[in-house]
Amino acid sequence: MHELSLAENVIRIVESAALKARAQRVGRVRLGIGALAHVDADTLQFCCELAARQTLLADAIFEVEQTPGQARCNDCQQEVALEKIGFPCPQCGGFDLLVTAGEEMQVLEITVA
Ligand SMILES: [Zn+2]
Repeated sequence: MHELSLAENVIRIVESAALKARAQRVGRVRLGIGALAHVDADTLQFCCELAARQTLLADAIFEVEQTPGQARCNDCQQEVALEKIGFPCPQCGGFDLLVTAGEEMQVLEITVA
């Protein structure tokens, strides 16, 4: 499962940040998932809870929010919002789009205790 390997990465990143900050445990993690990243937010949250067992994040609350997709349209030369891969340009209806944001995953915020 794609989400589980992402979740394991998240745990590793957050745990090493928490260790550097000499935290005893992590209370909350806010994640941003690009709308075009092919990641299911609920599944990712569940996988994070699984992967967090026996780490500093064992009791952490995971919040996953979606960040918008964006693309550059080569037909009308505009930066446009893109809901899904395969959708046309909302400005001109063209399909010559280059995705510029929304495929990434970010750790937005970590709350330690
Ligand atoms: Zn366009």
